[in-house]
Amino acid sequence: MSNNPVRIGIIGGMSWQSTQSYYQQINQQVAHRLGGLHSADLLIHSVDFEQISQWQHDNNWGALTEALCHSASLLCQGGAQAIVIATNTMHKVAGEVALTIPVPLIHIADATAKRCHHVGALKVGLLGTRFTMEQAFYRDRLAAHQLDVVVPDEPDREVVHSIIYEELCKGIINNASQQRYLEIIQKLRARGAEAIVLGCTEIGLLVKQENSPIPLIDTTAEHVAAIVDRICQK
Ligand code: GLU
Repeated sequence: MSNNPVRIGIIGGMSWQSTQSYYQQINQQVAHRLGGLHSADLLIHSVDFEQISQWQHDNNWGALTEALCHSASLLCQGGAQAIVIATNTMHKVAGEVALTIPVPLIHIADATAKRCHHVGALKVGLLGTRFTMEQAFYRDRLAAHQLDVVVPDEPDREVVHSIIYEELCKGIINNASQQRYLEIIQKLRARGAEAIVLGCTEIGLLVKQENSPIPLIDTTAEHVAAIVDRICQK
């Protein structure tokens, strides 16, 4: 790479299905921007998602904070110059992680909000885990970017959440589940959403823009774009 490549530390494995999307997309874009045989200087600490998921569902955010701070510290010791948490849900503890590291944390919701404004959407539907859809940490971050956020009603939130953990995080891509997501997207659109934030890094594996009548904001893709900007020091 030309002068001063930026080494990115990725906290991944949540799930590994989407961490591979990050790895592939980051390298594709770095190659596209820099040409030749350029690829990204990356460190990935991939955690055991069974344990992470257990703590999430037990509401043990203390253990999760400790685990992610530990990961970030390992990556910084390896020379990471910026840290990425490769999941929306675990941005619940992003503030705590950012406080413990000497380098910047590239926040997924900031990259996402930028894209929402780019497509001209001020009211957005949010799909993700229950934690992301129901708790304040993610919605407030989008709201801080002047975005109005709507989420599915309770039964639909259960559908969206369970498909993430029971299928997408296991690499299962199911047509019937895609159809259910598209129906939920239609309902959010009927409630005024001008774009849909795919606020879980695996949803882009299931639902594609060509299936949707309104813009889909893929948080993995937007996070990757912000990471590649940092790598290329834009
Ligand atoms: N990758 C998902 C997300 O972006 C869900 C897995 C997790 O809970 O971290 O939220």
